[in-house]
Parts: sequence; structure tokens; C-alpha cells
Amino acid sequence: MIYNLTKEMKYEIGSVVISKEQIQLKVAELANAFEEYYKDELPILMPVLTGSFIFAADFVRNLKSYPAIRFIKCSSYGSNTISSGQVVVEGLRDIDICCKRVLVMEDIIDTGYTFAALANELKKHNPKELKTMALFDKPSRRKINFIADFIGFTVPDEFLVGYGLDYNEQYRNLPQVHNLREVE
Ligand code: 5GP
Ligand code: MG
Repeated sequence: MIYNLTKEMKYEIGSVVISKEQIQLKVAELANAFEEYYKDELPILMPVLTGSFIFAADFVRNLKSYPAIRFIKCSSYGSNTISSGQVVVEGLRDIDICCKRVLVMEDIIDTGYTFAALANELKKHNPKELKTMALFDKPSRRKINFIADFIGFTVPDEFLVGYGLDYNEQYRNLPQVHNLREVE
């Protein structure tokens, strides 16, 4: 698992870190920023599975425009305690991004490895422009210099669940974001 969490301990959802209302407001703000920036030419919207599925679903329903939406899957391999900086991108083969604008949407940026490696991979296909959006950002944990073009919330250095973020694939359906606490 990702930092601090151990297999020996049991965890349950802890306090609310970001409320449902805060998230809904922020998603609407990001949608407005999108409309403004892409008013002349829409990008292909590329949410990264699985974590961003809820964010993407809410975000696109706040849009007044109709961008193409293509999900991709991105998994890092190597050590499972920290992102290795190597990612495998699935689902890209049948998406033609050459000479098109692309906006990648992620749930959260932590070390920055996943997003940076994904950006490198996508650039090989010669998009006209590549921008990135993340709903949550943990700049304090960054291992490489990476700044997304559109950021929702800057969050504290703790492991978060809800609104797409999982712990062992659970808790993604919580409408707000929580931290985890150890079960006694
Ligand atoms: P990075 O490569 O930036 O270190 O990792 C990004 C990925 O790590 C995210 O897409 C997400 O899957 C996972 N991640 C990072 N921080 C958290 C967190 O607080 N909670 C959960 N559930 N996943 C996280
Ligand atoms: Mg992820």
C-alpha cells in the first residue's frame, strides 16, 4: 500500500477532509475554467481510471460543451510501496490524439511520477497540446517537479479515500473525502 498504511493494521474511514458541498462547488469551478480555456477548440477529455471516474462523471455534467471523452487506464509497476516512475498505459491504442488537444484528468497527484510518466507516453503520439487536471494535489509529497494545469484542492499529507479514491478498492463511492483511522 501507499505510505504509512500497513497490511497488519485494520483501517476504517475517519473524519471528513473535504465535504460533498466543497467538492461540488470546486467541480463546477473547474468546469467553468475548462469552458473558458477551451472556448475556441475542445480537447479530447481523457480521464484516468479508476480513481477519476466519479470526478469525470460529475465534471462533464457541469459542461455546456461536448468534448469527446475517452477513458484510459494507467498502472505503475515495480515496487508497490512507492510509484516506480514507470507506467503502463492501457486503452491508448485506438485513440488518435495526433494533432489534437488533450486534457488528462486524474483523481490525485502525489509523488507526480504517474502523471509525468503518462505525459511522456502521450507526447510520443504528438498531440497538438497536452494539459493536465487533477482534483486533488499533494504538493508536499512531490518527488519530481510536476505542476498540473488545472488543480482542484491542495490536500494535506494523509491517505485519503472517497469520491473515487480507494483503500483496497473500497470507499470509492463515498460522496465526500475522508482520511483513514486505525481500528483498535
Ligand atoms: P503518484 O504517481 O503521483 O505518486 O500517484 C498518484 C496515484 O497514487 C493516484 O492516482 C492514486 O491512485 C494514488 N494515491 C496517491 N495519494 C492517494 C491518497 O491519498 N489516497 C488514495 N486512495 N490514493 C492515492
Ligand atoms: Mg490513480
